[in-house]
Amino acid sequence: MLSNLHFDEQTLSQRLMNHRREFHRYPEAAWREFFTTSRIASHLENLGYSLHFSDEIILRSSIMGRDEVLVAQAQERAISWGADITYLAHMDGITGVGAVLDTGRPGPVIALRFDIDAVEVMESEEDAHRPRFLGFASLAPGVAHACGHDAHASIGLGIAEVLAQNKDQLNGKIKLLFQPAEEGCRAGKAIAESGWLDDVDYFFAAHIGMNVPSGTLVCDPQHFLCSSKFDLHFTGKPAHAGIEPNAGQNALAAACTAVSQMLAIPRHRDGMTRINIGQMHAGDGRNVIPASAVLLGETRGENRALNSYMFQQVENIAEAAAMMHGVKVKLCAQGEAIGLENDLELVELLESVGPESGFTDVLREKDFGASEDAGYLVDRVQSRGGKAIYCLVGSDLTAGHHNGDFDIDESRMLPAVKLLLNAVNALQQPLLRAESASEPSITSN
Ligand SMILES: [Zn+2]
Repeated sequence: MLSNLHFDEQTLSQRLMNHRREFHRYPEAAWREFFTTSRIASHLENLGYSLHFSDEIILRSSIMGRDEVLVAQAQERAISWGADITYLAHMDGITGVGAVLDTGRPGPVIALRFDIDAVEVMESEEDAHRPRFLGFASLAPGVAHACGHDAHASIGLGIAEVLAQNKDQLNGKIKLLFQPAEEGCRAGKAIAESGWLDDVDYFFAAHIGMNVPSGTLVCDPQHFLCSSKFDLHFTGKPAHAGIEPNAGQNALAAACTAVSQMLAIPRHRDGMTRINIGQMHAGDGRNVIPASAVLLGETRGENRALNSYMFQQVENIAEAAAMMHGVKVKLCAQGEAIGLENDLELVELLESVGPESGFTDVLREKDFGASEDAGYLVDRVQSRGGKAIYCLVGSDLTAGHHNGDFDIDESRMLPAVKLLLNAVNALQQPLLRAESASEPSITSN
């Protein structure tokens, strides 16, 4: 299928590795990807893409789980690392970049999404950890590319390069979305609601690893969990605990009431649900009626209705507990994931181009069992008549995702690039697809 797209595999492989190792050295957590975005934007602009930043690709009012103090610090650090201040100005505080290649010829609008954020985990300092002994370990203590999004960003740049070099062979429009804040499911909703993907006919996203070995492609992962992450802020009134406790409004008591009731939410007959309150911070001193309390929690459900059921109960309990203790409560959404269902047409397309892209084992289904921010993007595209898919690109790993010892098999980036290029090519050139079914496929040199 790549027969009409020309590129040098060895050069591209080397470039993918170089990109990945640079992103790995400069990891940035959710909403703080200023250096990463700047580097990506610079490559894309050199390749001739038109770039879209900030409010063009993200609806600010739907942003979740963002700490402005940490964001400001990250911006300073990005400058010290050498981020281009022109791009920082375009970002206007919001990371991520969208790139468009418009061929000027009629054809579909195809979007590819690559997440770019790192994880808040300390990278291994063991000598046997490859990024360490090869000299590309994280330069940011406590943050590491421990989910493979450094590879995703690199795959995106690899695809961008081949598409740009072969623009004359392409039709329609290609949109590349380098997404911030996938961890914690904090950006998908805001990107979807910006409308930037509303003209998309076909949407692709992929994740490397995820317990899928090198050489294997999973075209249609199953069972994405819906989840809502939230903070609850209870605000009461302080008072002297001995002289006039009656004058206080006890926020800690309200938070405790809320926790015990939330953990007692009746389970739903229709399927799996979860709730966890993972942190509570409250009070000021032993002899002061506590005027503030914060709870950090999350609900999950095996589908949207079940997660909504859990979250609705949380809202009711928070209001009722606040009322009981005469305090105020404010719920702040920190992240949200909805389910994800692939379109069969694209599942079958990936199955057909998987083998020629370098996958020795092409599976249709595998249990996913986690949450993924792409759900909102997939849903947005599908709700407007487009088709969408999220697949898993296998890679042997040195440790599980979000673990400090995590490292990928870098050789698996090239097959991911070829897979998505083959898929784009097939959708753009349906005739070529039919004709070349029996021909040798790859003509890269
Ligand atoms: Zn991930």
